[in-house]
Amino acid sequence: MSLRCPLTFRRLTLPARGSDCRHLQPFDLESFLRANGEKCAANWRCPVCNRPTPLDAIEVDQFVWAAAQALADVEEVRIDTMARVSPVVVKVCTDSQLSVALLMGKNRFHELSVRSRR
Ligand SMILES: [Zn+2]
Repeated sequence: MSLRCPLTFRRLTLPARGSDCRHLQPFDLESFLRANGEKCAANWRCPVCNRPTPLDAIEVDQFVWAAAQALADVEEVRIDTMARVSPVVVKVCTDSQLSVALLMGKNRFHELSVRSRR
């Protein structure tokens, strides 16, 4: 899943989705509001799946938001069935990423070490 907004390709600051959306990929709420601000809110549509997304159907994804904040230099993450987030592309390994790894427990370390051996 990309941590960039599909509308602006800028990094997600507030990842959001419509309540009817069936995809994982969020869009950036601020960019969405800027892009749609001049249209009637009843006609807003999700930039990912094009479903109707009126203002009261927008939900902020706090899980992705927390991951995007913690993994500041990561462009893309993988979320597994246990809701573990792992970076797909790591440019720079920072202290914040290390603390996320600690927060998420040793499973993630195991996962990372398994993957780096391939
Ligand atoms: Zn959607």
